[in-house]
Amino acid sequence: MEQFTKTQLKDLRVLTDFVRTYCNARHATTERHSCELPSQLARHYRADLKLCPECAGLLAHGISKRRTCPLEPKPACKECRIHCYGKEYRAKIREVMAFSGRRLLLRGRLDYLWHYFF
Ligand SMILES: [Zn+2]
Repeated sequence: MEQFTKTQLKDLRVLTDFVRTYCNARHATTERHSCELPSQLARHYRADLKLCPECAGLLAHGISKRRTCPLEPKPACKECRIHCYGKEYRAKIREVMAFSGRRLLLRGRLDYLWHYFF
């Protein structure tokens, strides 16, 4: 049974929401499948989380990286000295964060400003 700390879980929810927002908007015409999430995270998503294979891969990468982040407290990723994401994933997550960040702000999700951590 895996255990995430509260902080990790909060970060992972933001990460998941960002990837989902991006995939819903950008990949609506791609075939998308339900995603396996760690159980602690899955219970926050009553509806199925459907992502295209590419975004599912990105999210899985992000989850595993967050799980193993050795820094506590974790700095914003752009200020981090480690840069643990693989190069391609890093480019991708920046695109996702920029796209979804803007979109969620437009929707009044100002709470995400506090967690704009990538
Ligand atoms: Zn996608």
